Amino acid sequence: MFIFDAHIDTLQKLVQSNGLYDLASIPNTHVNLAKMQTAGLNAQIFAVFIPENYRHGLALHNASVMIDIFWQNMIKYTSELMPIMWQDELCLLTAETKRIGCILSIEGGEALEGRLENLRNFFRLGVRGLTLTWNNRNELADGVGEGEQASGLSEFGRQVVAEMNNLGMIIDVSHLAEKGFWDVLKISKFPVIASHSNSFARCQHRRNLNDKQITALADQGGVIGVNFCPAFLTNNPKTAAIDHVVSHIVHLIDVGGSEAVGLGSDFDGIASVPQGLEDISRVNEIITKLKNHGYPESVIEKVMGLNFLRVLKQVFPQKSL
Ligand SMILES: [Zn+2]
Repeated sequence: MFIFDAHIDTLQKLVQSNGLYDLASIPNTHVNLAKMQTAGLNAQIFAVFIPENYRHGLALHNASVMIDIFWQNMIKYTSELMPIMWQDELCLLTAETKRIGCILSIEGGEALEGRLENLRNFFRLGVRGLTLTWNNRNELADGVGEGEQASGLSEFGRQVVAEMNNLGMIIDVSHLAEKGFWDVLKISKFPVIASHSNSFARCQHRRNLNDKQITALADQGGVIGVNFCPAFLTNNPKTAAIDHVVSHIVHLIDVGGSEAVGLGSDFDGIASVPQGLEDISRVNEIITKLKNHGYPESVIEKVMGLNFLRVLKQVFPQKSL
């Protein structure tokens, strides 16, 4: 079965190793090459996450360091991994493809440092997605951490959304405050994703999406990746287990339909993990859980990966650009 995970933070772990480790050798991470292969993973979005203390004046630099680490791994493990930037490369991705498709995405518009040319340069470096904000305010919009007072998209944020539509980049609304969420849905010409967000009805965390948001994103053809972070899964995070992940999937399907749900583990970005999903190697166990829940194979295939693949195919550029 085709398996696609829309969000991991493993590049950050590699940066923190000061070049000592790569994707095959890094110890104690939720994701490494062997674990991805054990899971039978077919595609993975790698987040370039800019830590808070790097934001002011160093965000662009920090992103470029992480992008280099991504490409060093792509070159070193060319038989195992395959960078995906264009339509024709997406078409190579199937459940039978041996190499794992790797997609580069920036988490936090801080990395643009307020300039559209940086977005275009990131695109030229292979970046195909942008999570517009992290939890805080940046030049594009406010994140969910700004609370009740949070504003929507800034003028620059609107320009970024339009340019991402032009270039063929995936717009990611995870972390974005609700006002910005509605602004993006209003102006984006293409479906958008919430790469790693859960259902607020199931767990009352600010990072989760309410039913209105789920319905609207689904109506526009977007996909929501279920996040494995215990605090986003249940109001009692210590008890978090794979069944909570399934429960969020069920709710998202009930509200948004089976076309709107995927996986966005957040592995290596979360401090604790749900029982039964200790690392990426176990992600395929969700298949059995969904079968036991009674879903037909066609629905399970969409949730495990085909939905995200569909959106990428709608958005990614032709190579002639
Ligand atoms: Zn995140």
